[in-house]
Amino acid sequence: MFPSAEAQQWFEACRDKGYTAPEWPSEYGGAGLSSAQAKVLQQEMAKMGCRPPLYCQGLWMLGPALLVYGNEEQKREHLTAICRGEIRWAQGYSEPSAGSDLANLKTKAEDCGDHFLVNGTKIWTTKADEADWIFCLVRTSDSTPKQAGISFLLIDMATEGVSTSPIPLISGESEFCQTFFDNVKVPKANLVGELNGGWAVAKELLKHERKMMAAFDGMLEKPAMELLELAHYAVGIDDSGVLADSELRSDMARHLMREKAMGQLGERIYWQGKAKQVDPRLPLLMKHLGTSEAQSKDELILRALGDEGLSMDDPAISEGLRKMVKQWAFNKALTIAGGTSEVQLNIIAKRALGMPSVERKS
Ligand SMILES: Cc1cc2nc3c(=O)[nH]c(=O)nc-3n(C[C@H](O)[C@H](O)[C@H](O)COP(=O)(O)OP(=O)(O)OC[C@H]3O[C@@H](n4cnc5c(N)ncnc54)[C@H](O)[C@@H]3O)c2cc1C
Repeated sequence: MFPSAEAQQWFEACRDKGYTAPEWPSEYGGAGLSSAQAKVLQQEMAKMGCRPPLYCQGLWMLGPALLVYGNEEQKREHLTAICRGEIRWAQGYSEPSAGSDLANLKTKAEDCGDHFLVNGTKIWTTKADEADWIFCLVRTSDSTPKQAGISFLLIDMATEGVSTSPIPLISGESEFCQTFFDNVKVPKANLVGELNGGWAVAKELLKHERKMMAAFDGMLEKPAMELLELAHYAVGIDDSGVLADSELRSDMARHLMREKAMGQLGERIYWQGKAKQVDPRLPLLMKHLGTSEAQSKDELILRALGDEGLSMDDPAISEGLRKMVKQWAFNKALTIAGGTSEVQLNIIAKRALGMPSVERKS
């Protein structure tokens, strides 16, 4: 589970101080830090080149939504286990006919007195075959609009009737599953928020998922070399002391400026948040900008690497460089997971820029 003994030691030291979730209240396993203190902690950890102590969907997505919508019992049971890295969560949102159009979901939870009876299927459930629990959006009413008939349920993967089937990827690996629910009994106590009020919980959670996706690249293990260092190594510098490839040089300068601007946008949102005056349009931009810039950086890395960027498997190429090529391949998913870029652009057009929806002609 841990890449090294040092990583485990680092996780355990942070867990014991509540640093896996620095801003969560200490009674739920966090450190109870203010957002300013947590920011300093994160900056200091980054300066030392430390990896985040814990990577998991419970921490990034479910926890923040439970803090808002969970009842006391749910918070005590689940948040503490998340902070301590004891429970692995999977996300059950997408279905074969409900991805971008999430409200179209069909997995049904029937009210049977003291429990719900769940039937249906979820797809693209990352690592569901290794998960202990899954948080799911389920249909509890066929009312219109569709969003008003959705509830948010926590389901123990060990419950009878839950099964997973891995989806093989072209790489030969299998990170995703299809998850099936066949007459699964889920206690009523596992409902988060109101019955038929799951859409509000789903949106709160998506806000955190998108924030996490926007910053995902920076959360990963430090690469073998930073972009400029890599370009100097792979392309070299000319007599005037600048990167020898002028086209790559200007594209890199453009990327570094955009990356800096993104960082400053993040700072702006942070300070607006502290003053409780966030311009609601700004956070809408972050997922699209963050993920597309991460992909631009990957392309620059590959261009700089030249021949060395042609393989993720060739043992003649150093492991650090191969990891960068793998990252390039993996990061293709950033503009799909958590809401595709096309859908993000629709949201920006409508909610940030106030553009009218286009009437579709049949
Ligand atoms: C790495 C990764 C991990 C994931 N993990 C999970 C997980 O753990 N749990 C989970 O539930 N889901 C997960 N997903 C699924 C993800 O949420 C969906 O892939 C995503 O929401 C898109 O849905 P879809 O794949 O059904 O594509 P579709 O919605 O079918 O979209 C297909 C194409 O049509 C475009 N499109 C659709 N609607 C519009 C529109 N209105 N305007 C313009 N273009 C449009 C899309 O942009 C896309 O290019 C994961 C996906 C990835 C890539």
